[in-house]
Amino acid sequence: MQRVGFIGLGIMGQGMVSSLIRNGYSVRVWNRSREKARALFRELPFAESPRALAEQSDVVISCVADPAAVERVVFAEDGVLAAARPGFAYVECSTVSPGLVRRIAQAFEARGAQALEAPVTGSKLGAQNGSLLFMTGGDPALHSALEPLLRSMGTRAIHCGESGQGALMKLVGNSLISFMLEGLCEGLTVARKGGLPIATVLEVIQAAGFASPYFAFKGAAIEARDFDTHFSIDLLVKDQSLMLAEAAEQRTPLPGLAAIREVFQAARAQGLGAADISAVVQVVERAAGL
Ligand code: NAP
Repeated sequence: MQRVGFIGLGIMGQGMVSSLIRNGYSVRVWNRSREKARALFRELPFAESPRALAEQSDVVISCVADPAAVERVVFAEDGVLAAARPGFAYVECSTVSPGLVRRIAQAFEARGAQALEAPVTGSKLGAQNGSLLFMTGGDPALHSALEPLLRSMGTRAIHCGESGQGALMKLVGNSLISFMLEGLCEGLTVARKGGLPIATVLEVIQAAGFASPYFAFKGAAIEARDFDTHFSIDLLVKDQSLMLAEAAEQRTPLPGLAAIREVFQAARAQGLGAADISAVVQVVERAAGL
C-alpha cells in the first residue's frame, strides 16, 4: 500500500487524516504548528519538514490555508518539491488559483514526478465523516491511479480537465456559496424585522423549488446562533478574492460577487474573520439596526 504523507492539520486536514487512518493507510504528517499536530495525532509519525515527509512517502496530500501556505509547503528550500522524483505524486487539496496549480504541476513534471490538484467541498463534517467531493485537474491517468486514495476521504472525485480546471471549478462553487449565504442572511434579516419566524422561513424554503441542503445547514446554524467554525470568513474572502482576480484576468465583470465580498470584509473588520461564514448574518443584522 502507498505510504501517504499529509500536510496541514486544520479543520479539513484533521478529518481527512482520520478518514485515511480509518481506511487502513499508513500516514505520516507535517503541520506548521508541531504541538497542535502532536496533540491531535500523538500516534502518527511527524516529519521534520515537508521535504522529509515527501522523502518518506509515495504520495503527499496537502490541505493548507492559502496561496502563501502552499508556496511555503511546495517551493521552500525544505519543501515537497525538493524531494520530487519519478514515481512520486503530490496532491494539492488547498483552494488556490488556477495559475498556482499549473505552476506546481509544471514544477513536479520537470523533476519527473506528477501533481494532481484535488480541491474539495463538504466542509468540516464532510471531512470528518469521509463524504467529501473532490474536483481534480491534471493527467486523467493520475486521477484514476489516485481515485481510491481520494475515495477513502470522500464519496466522489470528478475529473474537471487539465491542471487549473479543478481550482476554477472550486472558485465557481465558493462564489455560488457566497451568493446563497448572503442572500439567506438578507432574507432572514428582513423576515425577522417583519415578524416572520425564522423556523417558518426555513420550512417554506425547504419545501420550495429553490430548496437546498445548504440553506438547511446554514439556516439551522443561524437559527441556533451557533457560529462554531466549519469554514472561516477569512478563507471565504480569500476564495472570493481569487475568483475576482481570475475574472479580472478574463476581463469578466462580477458585480454581484464584488458587492458580496464587501459584506464579508465588513465581518472581518468587525473581528469575525475566524468565525464561521454563517456569522456574516451579524453584519447584515447590525446594518439593519438589529
Ligand atoms: P484551517 O483550519 O485554517 O487550517 C489551515 C492549515 O494551513 C493549518 O494546518 C495551518 O497550520 C496551515 N497553514 C496556514 N498558513 C500556513 C503557512 N504559511 N505555512 C504552512 N502551513 C500553513 O483551514 P481549513 O478550513 O482546514 O482549510 C484548508 C484549505 O481547504 C483552504 O485552502 C480552504 O480554503 C480549503 N477548504 C476549506 C473548507 C472548509 O469548509 N473548512 C472546505 C473546502 C475547502 P497551523 O496549524 O500551524 O495554523
